[in-house]
Order: sequence, then C-alpha cells, then structure tokens
Amino acid sequence: MPDTPRPSLFSLTQQELSDYLKEVGEPAYRADQILDWLYNKRATDIQDMSNLPAALRDILEKHFALQPLTPTHTEGSTDTTRKYLFRLEDGRYVETVLIPASPALYGERSDRYTACVSSQVGCAFGCKFCASGLNGLARNLRTDEIVGQLLAVERASGLRINNIVFMGMGEPLANLPNLMKALDIITAPWGIGIGARHITISTSGVAPKIKELARRPQQIRLAISLHGATDEVRSQIMPVNKKWNIEALVEALEYWKTHKKQKITFEFILIQGINDSFQQANALAKLAKSLQAKVNLIPYNKVEGLDWVRPSDGQCKAFRDKLIQQGITTTLRIEKGHDIDAACGQLRLKEETKEGIISAPIKQRN
Ligand code: SAH
Ligand code: SF4
Repeated sequence: MPDTPRPSLFSLTQQELSDYLKEVGEPAYRADQILDWLYNKRATDIQDMSNLPAALRDILEKHFALQPLTPTHTEGSTDTTRKYLFRLEDGRYVETVLIPASPALYGERSDRYTACVSSQVGCAFGCKFCASGLNGLARNLRTDEIVGQLLAVERASGLRINNIVFMGMGEPLANLPNLMKALDIITAPWGIGIGARHITISTSGVAPKIKELARRPQQIRLAISLHGATDEVRSQIMPVNKKWNIEALVEALEYWKTHKKQKITFEFILIQGINDSFQQANALAKLAKSLQAKVNLIPYNKVEGLDWVRPSDGQCKAFRDKLIQQGITTTLRIEKGHDIDAACGQLRLKEETKEGIISAPIKQRN
C-alpha cells in the first residue's frame, strides 16, 4: 500500500478521468471503457478491467483505489426496509437504508426502491431528537463514499435503486462540494444514471446553501426538516433555527421556488407534547400553503437514550386531518416496519461506541 491514500476512481467525473488519461498519454476512448467497468459492469477491482492493457491497469492501480464499501451488518428482510452498516477505510461507520416502494409516501410504483443515503459521519447540527447528531460531527463523507453507498446497496441486495433521498446521517448541505460532485456522478448517463427528479435532498434548513443549491441546473427535489411551525417550538428542538429562523428559511425557499419546478416537502416529526398541538398544525398549514409545499408527517421514532415520545396514532391522524382540512397535501406514515429507517444513525452509534471510537453518547435533556 502506498503511504498517501490514493483517490478513488469513484470520485472522478468523466472530465476528470479524461484529463488524467490524456496526461498519461492514453487515447480518449479509455475513459468510456473505464466508466463502463465502474458503472455498468460494476467492477470492484481495477485488475478485472480486462479490455484495458495490463500496463494501464497497473498505472491506474498505482494512482487510484476502488475501495468498494461492504456491509458489516444488515438489518431487515427482503420485503421490508433494510438497513446496511458500512465500515469505512478509517474505521468509521456509515448507514444506508433501502426502502421498498411506499406509494403513500412518494407515489412510486411498487417495483421502486429508494435508498436513504448518508452524507456525513455524525452531524454537527445537534437536533435534540436525532441519533445522528448525538456525538457531533466526525467527518464529511467523500464523493466516492456517497456514490459507493448506492453501488454497495445494489450489490448487496441485487436490486436496482430508482429513488434516492439524502435523509441518512448528516446534513447534506454542510458537505455541499462532495455532495454536488456525487450528484453529478449519480445523475450522469455515463455514471449511475438516476434522474435528478428522483433525488431528494433533505436539509435542516441551511438557508444560504439552499440558495446555492437552487442555482444548480439539476431539477433535484428539496425536503425541509421543519419539525416546528413556529420559532419558539422549532428553536427548542433544532439549534439551527437560532441561526436561520423560519423567516430566513421561508425567504430561501421562495428563492428555491423561482428556480425549481417540483414542490417542496416539509418533513414534520410528531413528538408528543412538543409539536403535536393543533396550533402547530395550523401554523404548519399556513406555511405550507404560502409555499405550496407538501407535508410528510413522521411519528417520532424512539432513539436510545432520548426521552421523547411518539404521540398516539389517533393524535397523529387528528394532526394530519387538520392539515388536510386546510387543503394541504399531507402524508402520514404510521405503519410498522418503517421504524428502522427514520432513526438513522443508531446502528453506527452502537458500533462505534462498542469499538471505543467514540465514547457513549451523552444523554440529552429534553
Ligand atoms: N440532516 C438532514 C438529513 C438527515 S435527517 C435533515 O435534517 O433533514 C433525515 C430525517 O430524519 C430528518 O427529517 C430528521 O429530522 C428525521 N429524524 C431524525 N431523527 C428522527 C427520529 N428519531 N424519528 C423520526 N425522524 C427522525
Ligand atoms: Fe443532523 Fe438532520 Fe439529525 Fe438534525 S436531523 S442532527 S441536521 S442529521
């Protein structure tokens, strides 16, 4: 192994690969051959690229790695949500979730599979209900580690992913350069080839980055983790609201709307006694109406060490009905079996604590 870590071929765009090959005196068509191995034939070893001259394979191997991610732990079964835990090169862990079609949620067909992808190891944003933020941010994921999650989930499951939601660990907009490059590779016809319209980025509300993302030409979808419809409630559970309050967020979303066609989604976790009142429902309806946003209600999923409680099914439905009565397109996920997907970050916390990479998460006060 060389001393300095080699960059991964999975973090190169077509242009970067072509530039490199030109530099080492290779003909242009080699880039297409290599991309074909990476994204069509799904090679996991440079030496498997049999139509490349041996000398080129050796040069590539000297300068680049492939580092396919392999799951160290899988939860769930064939027809339910599956959660994969991947060990990264530096011993950290990341989670990716595979969700079979849930027509109620995103309106997909039943042969659709959604991957819930992570963008960081941990998260610096410290939302009070979330496992990913319990120990702060460890590091950003590299482009190849973002792309690699999709390839690895497809390899492990034997399925084709048609939808991607960046709702795993981390705040995608706090890792924007690596995320944007990953999006280029994921959406490109020479890459994974998943259309931008099938990709949703979820953010806790980093207003300036929402605007930056809006200026990108791709028609990606945006979901906002709102979780509080007034500053008072939102600031109580999401520290980010102290930096960019609801007014700042709304301003960024208005800007987003001038650049993108798809409707924005508000994600709203229902937590008993915190944000499940009718006053909150009414305030949420008002916000959603002004931005023509859809609302996705998610009953809170228990996180080990945190004392928040999920409201009763009846209360969740009453909250939903309040929104529907006001003309807001609203979905509510009550079914069991989705329990493992929204509580992303817990498997990794468990594993890293067990291995002594991080100390046991500090129990937070409600
Ligand atoms: N950082 C981004 C994306 C990752 S979080 C964001 O916050 O949007 C993905 C979603 O899972 C967010 O809506 C988040 O609020 C939600 N979530 C976190 N912890 C949860 C829990 N315990 N139960 C239900 N949803 C949770
Ligand atoms: Fe980070 Fe999102 Fe979790 Fe908040 S909800 S701590 S932003 S991952």
